[in-house]
Amino acid sequence: MAAEDRLRTYRGKRDFERTREPSGQAAPGGGGEPRFVVQIHDARRMHFDFRLQVDDVLKSWSVPKGPSSDPGDRRLAVPTEDHPLEYEEFEGVIPRGEYGGGTVIVWDRGTYEPLSHDRRGRPVDFAESLERGHATFRLRGSKLHGEYALTRFRSGADGEEAWLLVRKGPARADGHGTPDPRRARSVRTGRTLAQVAADAGE
Ligand code: MN
Repeated sequence: MAAEDRLRTYRGKRDFERTREPSGQAAPGGGGEPRFVVQIHDARRMHFDFRLQVDDVLKSWSVPKGPSSDPGDRRLAVPTEDHPLEYEEFEGVIPRGEYGGGTVIVWDRGTYEPLSHDRRGRPVDFAESLERGHATFRLRGSKLHGEYALTRFRSGADGEEAWLLVRKGPARADGHGTPDPRRARSVRTGRTLAQVAADAGE
């Protein structure tokens, strides 16, 4: 499916005359490792947005508590619409009354290595593993490092689809596991949510 079609839901929710979020018109960049980004979004309810590049879009999940570096933490991750690749750069204030109104910072970003395998240990296409509801990957960000898994535990048939985001492997005390969203700083600009809102004149 072309990004044009994949982004229909994303575009349908937004008025690009009002929000400064990207409309997703830019040509996709080529090659290289796929990207990931984690944004903190102070919307109606504070949450983290976890996004993985799959082909020419960012597959997205809303993670209320954010990712944890502790393998004992199973973090609820609710799928949201595919976002354009340029969304990795988005930091700012979405106007009140618009879809997702509130402040956004880019908390972490980088590349990831797809690790999905079948039961026999053979590599599986990453997009296909997501469609099947279980994908593993190694994050290489500024804050998040290491292997994580996303696993669907509830299908969307009779309610909201729900996944778990879990750190795999041994626990590490890297101090970034469970950030306080109000104290966390942008990996792009070093600003907190409050500073981004202040700079936007909110
Ligand atoms: Mn969000």
